[in-house]
Amino acid sequence: MVGAGPGAADLLTCAAARLLADCDVIVHDALVSRDVLDLGRAEAARIFAGKRGGRSSTNQSDICDTLIRLAKAGKRVVRLKGGDPFVFGRGGEEIRALAAAGVPFRIIPGITAGVAAPAMAGIPVTDRSVNSSIAFLTGHEVSRDSRIDWTALVAAFPVMVFYMAARVLPDLTARLMDAGMDANMPVAVIRNASLPDESVGTGTLRQAKDGRITAASPSIVIVGEAVRQRIPWRNQPG
Ligand code: SAH
Repeated sequence: MVGAGPGAADLLTCAAARLLADCDVIVHDALVSRDVLDLGRAEAARIFAGKRGGRSSTNQSDICDTLIRLAKAGKRVVRLKGGDPFVFGRGGEEIRALAAAGVPFRIIPGITAGVAAPAMAGIPVTDRSVNSSIAFLTGHEVSRDSRIDWTALVAAFPVMVFYMAARVLPDLTARLMDAGMDANMPVAVIRNASLPDESVGTGTLRQAKDGRITAASPSIVIVGEAVRQRIPWRNQPG
């Protein structure tokens, strides 16, 4: 169970690179970049087991069955997931299935997008002058049946990092404003962090609510004063 990191091949762990170079099968998600897959052994089979645009193109229990079947056939399988396997990645369900089937496995963490994206954008996700806590959330919680107490959340966390939030950005920001957050709170949307086409959009909560910050998948959305501490550093001369 291997984390592929945010996309750039050189942000992979050494352990992940070693396993990719020496495995029989790579079972990967949609978010795993081409550059990372290219590090895999040329002869290794590649199996796509991903979800596209939030829609499940591969059934979760089919993925678990595939992993178990390959392992029981004696294959050395790398189950490669974007970022970290256990951060909004359903890696827990898969290792539970492996453990239940008696398949031995190991776990290699990866750099999760919620940490990589702010760093690539030059935003210190904790800054002593701003925050001593961060909340990591999914944009799916914006839906009506959300389990989240938004007022408590806004009161408790000065910085929030959202996964899977690009498509719900106006709804998300409306929720935060309803829960008492200042309309001038800075927001950053970081798309394709660490990849050649990385882009960073910034503005205020109100601008995000009005659709004036462009957001497309896959993006990390950061809300909080930490965004104001941003020091851009990529594509700088020298
Ligand atoms: N397990 C992954 C997250 C999977 S959920 C991890 O730890 O990073 C998928 C979401 O991750 C996307 O909707 C997006 O919010 C985020 N994401 C993944 N890769 C990203 C990247 N390179 N840049 C920005 N966001 C990314």
